[in-house]
Amino acid sequence: MNIYKQIINEIKKNDKIIITTHVRADGDCVGSAIGLREMIKHTFKGKDVKASYEYVDYLKFLGRCDEIEDSEFENALVISVDNAELSRANDKRIEKASKIIKIDHHPNVNPFGYINFVEDEKSSCAEIIFDLFLKLPRRKISIKGLEAIYTGMMTDTGFLKYKSVTGDTFKKIGLLYDFGVDGTKIRNTLDEISIEELRLKGYVFEHMESTPNGVLYAIITPEIREKYNVEYDEASNMVGALSNVEGHPIWVLVNEYKPDEIRCRVRSLEIPINEVARNFGGGGHKNASGIVVKDYETVNKILNALDELLKN
Ligand code: AMP
Repeated sequence: MNIYKQIINEIKKNDKIIITTHVRADGDCVGSAIGLREMIKHTFKGKDVKASYEYVDYLKFLGRCDEIEDSEFENALVISVDNAELSRANDKRIEKASKIIKIDHHPNVNPFGYINFVEDEKSSCAEIIFDLFLKLPRRKISIKGLEAIYTGMMTDTGFLKYKSVTGDTFKKIGLLYDFGVDGTKIRNTLDEISIEELRLKGYVFEHMESTPNGVLYAIITPEIREKYNVEYDEASNMVGALSNVEGHPIWVLVNEYKPDEIRCRVRSLEIPINEVARNFGGGGHKNASGIVVKDYETVNKILNALDELLKN
């Protein structure tokens, strides 16, 4: 039996389904969770299906997550989307679940499901969710679900820019338009930034630095966020401001959440950076990885290790 049929059979067999994802929500994890919930809800009438994901202000147009009681996890089928490692689950109650299906597009370092549907060549998890939707017999979904899938596909591909994008990705975006998604409206919503964020971007441009071989980086501390009146998640988005600068094929946004929790968002054009991320306890994709460290000494070590990649 192919993997789509296996997953569809499991959905048919279980009346209670909970969808979870990863910590530090982004467009792909929220989009995948809502897309999957909406397709299950509308195609398989009568299922009790809920999605758990963290609130992120810039994604509020997709809707808030569902209220879920602790006890609901015990007899539910849990479908984890866009999360490579159980330890990075957004909802720790996943550990109470007896059956987990993992659907993901990160390297499968921790196959924690009893079914693991992992396609790490896919540009987003939302694309896999859309593939699953297209395989459903008598499929149905709400426009909200389609918009969520579109948001996941667009945000995880840098709006169809990254190398992971294929002709097939474009065809699926075309289908989403055919099904009624207003891409311009969503793009405008996602692109909107506040005056405060724009000012913080100015700070990033003023204060960014480069390692000897061209790793461009900027550091945002809690004091800076407070000064500019910008939330942690909004500041995290500044990683995009450092992209595509001539002579800087790797870039890093260092966003200090609190003194012993410093998040490094690492990006590159071509050079794989996920091995360096893994060496420092992080992980992710070849050209987009994340690491959380406890001190600036380690941040410097990460910058040095990335700089070495450019030297070689
Ligand atoms: P970020 O810059 O934090 O958005 O991370 C970029 C990509 O790496 C995302 O796909 C994350 O899910 C993934 N990622 C971030 N941190 C980790 C980690 N500690 N372990 C595994 N994957 C991670």
